[in-house]
Amino acid sequence: MTRTHTLGFPRMGAQRELKFALEKHWRGQIDAAALEAVGAQLRAQHWQAQRDAGLDFVTVGDFAFYDHVANHIQLLGCEPARFEFAGDAPELVRYFTMARGVADEAGHACAHDGCAHHSHATFALEMTKWFDTNYHYLVPEFSASTRFGLSSVRLFNEVAQAQQLGHPVKVVLLGPLSFLWLGKEKEAGFDRFSLLEPLLPVYEQLLARLKSQGVEWVQIDEPILGLDLPQAWRNAFERSYWQLARSAPKLLLATYFSPLADNLRLACQLPVAGLHVDAVRAPAELIGVADWLPAHKVLSVGIVDGRNIWRANPDAALAKLKPVADKHRGELWIAPSCSLLHVPFSLAAEIGLDAEVRSWLAFAVEKLDELRVLRAALDGEESAVEVELLAARKAAAARRGSARVHRADVALRVARSVASDDRRASGFAARQAEQRARFALPPLPTTTIGSFPQTGAIRAARAAFRRGELDAAAYGEKMRAEIELAVRKQEALGIDVLVHGEAERNDMVEYFGEQLDGFAFTANGWVQSYGSRCVKPPVIYGDVARPAPMTVEWTAYAQSLTRLPMKGMLTGPVTILQWSFVRDDQPRSVTTEQIAWAIRDEVVDLEKAGIGIIQIDEPAIREGLPLRRAGWKAYLQAATRSFRISASSVANQTQIHTHMCYSEFNDILPEIAAMDADVITIETSRSDMELLRGFGEFKYPNEIGPGVYDIHSPRVPTVDEMVRLLRKAAAVVPAAHLWINPDCGLKTRAWAETEAALSNMVAAARVLRGEMNGR
Ligand code: GLN
Ligand code: ZN
Repeated sequence: MTRTHTLGFPRMGAQRELKFALEKHWRGQIDAAALEAVGAQLRAQHWQAQRDAGLDFVTVGDFAFYDHVANHIQLLGCEPARFEFAGDAPELVRYFTMARGVADEAGHACAHDGCAHHSHATFALEMTKWFDTNYHYLVPEFSASTRFGLSSVRLFNEVAQAQQLGHPVKVVLLGPLSFLWLGKEKEAGFDRFSLLEPLLPVYEQLLARLKSQGVEWVQIDEPILGLDLPQAWRNAFERSYWQLARSAPKLLLATYFSPLADNLRLACQLPVAGLHVDAVRAPAELIGVADWLPAHKVLSVGIVDGRNIWRANPDAALAKLKPVADKHRGELWIAPSCSLLHVPFSLAAEIGLDAEVRSWLAFAVEKLDELRVLRAALDGEESAVEVELLAARKAAAARRGSARVHRADVALRVARSVASDDRRASGFAARQAEQRARFALPPLPTTTIGSFPQTGAIRAARAAFRRGELDAAAYGEKMRAEIELAVRKQEALGIDVLVHGEAERNDMVEYFGEQLDGFAFTANGWVQSYGSRCVKPPVIYGDVARPAPMTVEWTAYAQSLTRLPMKGMLTGPVTILQWSFVRDDQPRSVTTEQIAWAIRDEVVDLEKAGIGIIQIDEPAIREGLPLRRAGWKAYLQAATRSFRISASSVANQTQIHTHMCYSEFNDILPEIAAMDADVITIETSRSDMELLRGFGEFKYPNEIGPGVYDIHSPRVPTVDEMVRLLRKAAAVVPAAHLWINPDCGLKTRAWAETEAALSNMVAAARVLRGEMNGR
């Protein structure tokens, strides 16, 4: 008999109950006990959903009030000493302090430790992306003084809660090697690997305690087995797991997101009772795993896509599973490929969604049910799930043949594209000369990244428009007034290249997705991004095309108000793809290229409308990098080609900008250069221009605008601070290539601080220009 389980379940609740409870708690409207009660109720509901789908276990340990890695920090007793928690500070208070920081008198909690301006603020733990997902975890901080010790009973209480409800429990824990790997050293010369030895005894205690609670199975997550690991880390797995095996319940070692590759045999041979592998991301490895895994071990196959929202095709799934079932003589379990944390809760709420598209989807609750059906089919009980199988087969066939998915015109366009479609007519030097002649900008030109404050009035107008309370004409008038306001303010500030301010945009991806063919939008398809914050990614279900111009009217209107150059503002193909749920029936690179052609159409129309400078934002380009380096080259080639397809139709004298933020660029500089944008603006102020150093050393060929104003803080940087940053920048990048701009868009800021900061930025530009003229 095949067994079914899930690696984890979404935490937020069907209606994002956790988000709203958390935010009330933070505002002081509900106390800790009330918040705990919401948590307990959500866990109970989520376990019940797992039982309703006939899962053999409920998963305990995936719940968290903010982030599961933060839970782990408390469980293992390694809260960083810098928080200086009082001995009697309650656990939950310490938890939210680590997650959110403590504001100083100015109300500003600084996000990084290099910030000298806020000595009174306690900054939160750094947040970073969980592998290649859009979920952010809180980064453990390690140093030579880090100590471990079992320090929280939260997990044990949750186990007891599930047991009291009569559920068979499987506990999930982040494994010791992955936990250390995901942390960061906070001391020069210290290697967090050295903490493995003191950490393992605490895991032993933890596992022994779970065993004494009557827990039979612990799923121990070691997703780093899907990464290119240093040899020392690989070697450590075997002895670590021998040590844990002494006191542990049965361990199911869980891997996901990435092929095991060189770690495959290691993973199969570790002294654990079972192994989970991701058959969605690494289908080719399945048979190898079945070969290497000893028969006495459980093989858990992650067959249902835990990262995407498509309904499983039962025939394709069974075709993968059957050979494995034949080969592996031990017990077989089936599960989603990874935790369902990364998909929305349930389709039940999607009553407004196009019925046909809806029939192609499965969210977390539906995915649990898919396991029930697949299990029955695998175990020879097809007749019990005949209706479900038929429906799933019909949906798969409809999707495969749908004219809404497959459009000949789009396919033809991509197929017919030639190498020169992604090349500008001339090299950078020739373009630069023509652009200089056309725009006659001062040296060190100033600009901004695109958005201006999304005020309450703007959001209210958009909401009223969506509800039908404001008609298109009245809404358009309000937005034009906002654009005019932004233009006049920029003129008064003395900025050289203006933007229209993006007042009409809700979100930089949704705004374009809503106007492109091939996209669908859910009403309630929320996925946790971090803490209480959720995002609702669009669904790309079909071939992408642009039926009509998307931004031209707004941009042309903005240009009509001023003689200064107005920068058109678009989101790039890679970012649109990266922040959406992407179709799984063709390579991601093909979908990216389709989006690229749609954006190119927009670029053509902007240029025709007289817009001379066009920015194509690609903040997400780096986060799409495959987890294993072997996949980088192909990804980067496809990503840069798509960007260039979108940008290369224009004349030499049209200037293309791109923008990137909040990532390490240094290991992909050649590819960033290969995008061949005339100007790139990047976030650098929080790293004190350190990020820029790589661009200097690499001799980045085109123009570059390093951010001098950290837009994540309401703090107004002084002229001196910005001058200092600019001098640092001028030391690594030729001054003739430098632009001056904030780190990112200003939509989260208020006008008062925005104007003050930009006014200082323009003043700093003048100081630097004076220095350049030898004054
Ligand atoms: N143009 C966008 C803005 O200014 C860019 C946002 C981003 O980089 N994430 O808001
Ligand atoms: Zn940005």
